[in-house]
Amino acid sequence: MSIQLFTPTFRIEECLDEIRECLEKGWTGLGYKTTAFEEKWKEYTGLTNAHFLNSATVGLSLALKILKMECGWQDQDEIITTPLTFVSTNHAILYEGLRPVFADVDQYLCLDPEDVRNKITAKTKAVLFVGIGGNTGQYEQIAAICKQNQLKLILDAAHMAGTRLHGQIPGKEADAVVYSFQAVKNLPTADSGMICFKDTKHDELCRKLTWLGINKDTFARSNDKGAYKWKYDVEYVGYKYHGNSIMASIGLVQLKYLDQDNAYRRQLASWYDQAFQGRVASIPVADGCESSRHLYIIEASNRNELLLALNECGIYPGVHYRDNTEYRMYSYAHGTCKNSHRTSERIISLPMHLRLSKQDVDFIAEKVMTYSK
Ligand SMILES: *Cc1c(COP(=O)(O)O)cnc(C)c1O
Repeated sequence: MSIQLFTPTFRIEECLDEIRECLEKGWTGLGYKTTAFEEKWKEYTGLTNAHFLNSATVGLSLALKILKMECGWQDQDEIITTPLTFVSTNHAILYEGLRPVFADVDQYLCLDPEDVRNKITAKTKAVLFVGIGGNTGQYEQIAAICKQNQLKLILDAAHMAGTRLHGQIPGKEADAVVYSFQAVKNLPTADSGMICFKDTKHDELCRKLTWLGINKDTFARSNDKGAYKWKYDVEYVGYKYHGNSIMASIGLVQLKYLDQDNAYRRQLASWYDQAFQGRVASIPVADGCESSRHLYIIEASNRNELLLALNECGIYPGVHYRDNTEYRMYSYAHGTCKNSHRTSERIISLPMHLRLSKQDVDFIAEKVMTYSK
């Protein structure tokens, strides 16, 4: 038997029913289920806009592109970001010709407000905040810093589907919130994502850019009267970034179970906590945060040995993440974020998915306590 870090659970029959509707109708592309999913997502989050994409990576890229276009940012203007994230976050900054400036992380492994303040220069335009593992960290302080310094705020909410802060879905104050529905995230499809702009003008521009710069989507066109449906305008050299109805079908079903699934993830986390009884250092969840619990992260001084020992027992944890300044394209910032660097050598993400039982958690916890230092 082996216990993987992530094993997604799909409501197979319901997903197939939704997909069947697409196939029977003959509509698998943009529009139809994508529109339905966007509406449901707005209802669920309370965010003003939602546009369904083929990944969160393109969402982060679009958030930066559109803010750069609309706010007149220059190449090499600075975006404050975290070194402890999936590279997608920071690559998105490079795609747009902007410069990632790394600030250190706090005890939640999220951006540390004090270091963000230290890293602001005359060229800083925005802060990109990542809610690691579904944690909100000190997001409210970061939002306040952005407001004081007239910086834009982008929330990489790839881990945060279903996270609440003081009972609300966070992100209403952010200029853009980007969710991932990639294969192993809390709301898994296969690959897709959602971008939620605060400003409806940005959402409208985004819809054009995700379909080659064309100013109307096929669904709207097919409902138009007249013989000139084909005569749309192309306003921008846009991209092929929009989502499709097959992914949206899976998303619509998975969304119905998101809160229930996340509640079980929090149950798993509390079983880990109980088993460890403070004998293993785990990353705390911020006050007021009801975390989606995408991850359960612990620290160990013998991390690499511990990983190997757990593998020997059939347990396959992960590491989220390696300090990005160790990668060649970000190495200019190596050594600028001491806590990230140190933590990156010590963290392990323990298995966290809906097929785990209390017995599994107890088994994993026992092995962790046996082999960790
Ligand atoms: C998964 C992930 C992304 C990218 O999501 P995709 O939908 O796979 O493009 C971005 N940021 C973080 C923190 C992630 O974990």
